[in-house]
Amino acid sequence: MPIPTEPIGSVPRSRELQAAIVAYSKGEISADAIHVQYDAAVRETVERFEATGSPVISDGEQTKPSFATYPLEGLENLAPNGLVIPFEDGHTRQLPRLATGPFRYSTYAGSYLPRARKYATRPVKQAVISASAMSLLYPAGGISDYSQEQFLDDLIQHAVADIRSCFDNNAYSIQIDFTEGRLAIKLDPSKRLLQQFIDLNNRVLSHFSLEERQRIGVHTCPGGDHDSTHSADVDYGELIPMLLTLEVGSFYMQMANEKNPERALKLIGENLRPNQRAFIGVVDVLNEEVETDEVVRDRALMAAEYIPVSQLGTTDDCGFSPFSDDIATSRNTAFAKIAARVRGTQLASEKLGV
Ligand SMILES: [Zn+2]
Repeated sequence: MPIPTEPIGSVPRSRELQAAIVAYSKGEISADAIHVQYDAAVRETVERFEATGSPVISDGEQTKPSFATYPLEGLENLAPNGLVIPFEDGHTRQLPRLATGPFRYSTYAGSYLPRARKYATRPVKQAVISASAMSLLYPAGGISDYSQEQFLDDLIQHAVADIRSCFDNNAYSIQIDFTEGRLAIKLDPSKRLLQQFIDLNNRVLSHFSLEERQRIGVHTCPGGDHDSTHSADVDYGELIPMLLTLEVGSFYMQMANEKNPERALKLIGENLRPNQRAFIGVVDVLNEEVETDEVVRDRALMAAEYIPVSQLGTTDDCGFSPFSDDIATSRNTAFAKIAARVRGTQLASEKLGV
């Protein structure tokens, strides 16, 4: 079997779509009008995705407000002033804060799949946000009448339902976006926070059968927004052994723009369990230069030196536009990089004789 290859998910939204989203948020256009725009955007994205040859595609997250905040759209018990995440280039993203209980998701990720599958002829994967990222909404000072324990019970119930909705809508694979893993070590070098995150996500995963968990994966990266990162300065080696204790079948791991990939790949090879696959990032989403097929091939071949080929896959380092307003990368560049990933992975498969 050739080396499998999957995208992470997001693709930059067109300027027309972005303008329509802003107009809709201001009440200037109707729900019907925004759905016409959504349909057109997902259709064009699916068609361009399939034209890259990618055997598994996504909807480019065209209608998701962001990889992290889609479950919160329209909720009225949130305040804007939550945790601030600083990026290396100086810009920040701020999470909302839960103001009152109970906590629930307004949107499940499975609801994005019917629109994509209407246009797709290939398997469609779906990303969900990790329960650990959502756990950051609970304020450090607590909420009267709504304990953190109650919050976590509600959160787990909704995170399970979020993943379940993707199975129910025939996702080929389901990717948990866990971009706060490496960040957790920056926030707490003792790694207690990272262990809490992993335990919480494993509590969610315990609701799924072994067979189901083989179709669930976890994405890790040092953050990717406006071509900048939030935790690339944390040693990847500190994260990898603990990350691989998550009870999933696949890991989608940023690697193309890693400073010392061989050391990280070695650690993956040493810690990956027999029923797990590591999809290694072979295109750098923070660099506008499109990789040649040979560069992608050589990155995959380097990974194959440390990871058994039967447990190897390739992927993009991260989404191309995790937040809907991020257009640092153009759609043309994103699709060109995806096409290079597909062709370069094919070359690596041929070289390895698989
Ligand atoms: Zn990412």
